[in-house]
Amino acid sequence: MTAELIYLDHNATTPVDPRVFEAMRPYFLEEFGNAASHQHAAGKRASEGVEDARLKIASLIGADPREIVWTSGATEANNLALKGVANARAYAGKQHIVTVKTEHKAVLDPCTALEEMGFEVTRLPVDADGMLNLEQLGDALRDDTLLVSVMHANNEIGVLHPIAEIGRLCKARGVLFHTDATQSFGKEPLDVQAMGIDLLSCSAHKLYGPKGVGALFVRRRGPRVRLKPLIDGGGHERGARSGTLNVPGIVGFGAAAEIAGQAMTTERARLSGLRDLLESTLLERLDDVLVNGHTQSRLANTTNLSFVGVKAEALMRRMPEVATSTSSACTSASLQPSYVLTALGADPQRIDGSLRFSLGRFTTEGEIERAAELIAAAVTAERSGAKSAK
Ligand code: PMP
Repeated sequence: MTAELIYLDHNATTPVDPRVFEAMRPYFLEEFGNAASHQHAAGKRASEGVEDARLKIASLIGADPREIVWTSGATEANNLALKGVANARAYAGKQHIVTVKTEHKAVLDPCTALEEMGFEVTRLPVDADGMLNLEQLGDALRDDTLLVSVMHANNEIGVLHPIAEIGRLCKARGVLFHTDATQSFGKEPLDVQAMGIDLLSCSAHKLYGPKGVGALFVRRRGPRVRLKPLIDGGGHERGARSGTLNVPGIVGFGAAAEIAGQAMTTERARLSGLRDLLESTLLERLDDVLVNGHTQSRLANTTNLSFVGVKAEALMRRMPEVATSTSSACTSASLQPSYVLTALGADPQRIDGSLRFSLGRFTTEGEIERAAELIAAAVTAERSGAKSAK
């Protein structure tokens, strides 16, 4: 990365931690075996690397290693959870799915695809802080409800949903509960037992691991969750997801999860301190800055701010040294206003002027101070109507 760039877009992706890279390195070179080739030592060693990583992912969320299915990322994990359960023969007759308007597209789009196949989907609203109304969720559950899918942390505003309460509600009604924990995995405590989670999606590249590797937790007992695979082939992953495993990527994911677990408490405290510093400096220096989303129940590393009266894209052009994001990076190819902020009831001006800042492991206090200066200067210049530096 260029030295001058202040990277505040960790919710889009993170750099690979050098320790993760070192853990992966041998699996590109010496330990290149196919993890499914158990007949010889090369395959066995690759398989051991994979199983060690499986244990690390499982321990971070209180799961059994046999409940972890490797995928290509959280998009695939979400698709496997939603379509896999919906299309499983065991659940024939249950046609109703409940989700939330502020979910990632990797949940919303599979829901739409299922709707086209005849399933019924309820998309719950959120309040002005991005929070779900649990009573409304309870009321939405029906006898034919198969699955509830609610993300743990929102990628755009960082809002954390009360997963344990949702899990309890689902258990009481015999409904399966999936959570997209892509943004919270390794950053917030997660326990699939205590939280009543039946399926959980996560991804290595949000956690200082490599891109293109993820996992789905699939509960084996109480209840045993049944899935129809998306990808058929050699029957890898106990038949849940065929295809030769990405051994270096998986080993990297395991190393990333282990480091994140050890660092979680200190990292949360450090990042929320820096995030609050950024937020308070900007609120102090500038008028008409609004924080989007709940300010307590949210990820330590995230703030989404609206600079009322200016366009976020224009701000970004004025401060190329600060890497930030106008809305979810995954949907930024389209120029539509953020559907997440729209769901919070934000007016168009507030949405137009919103930027997401997401801090990470290697963000320094000096970078935050410098970023605050650059952002404040960009907003002031834009508001004074000066010609945008292209
Ligand atoms: N869910 C959430 C909440 C995300 O933030 C992302 C990444 N933007 C995804 C799913 C998709 O993850 P992946 O890039 O691993 O497919």
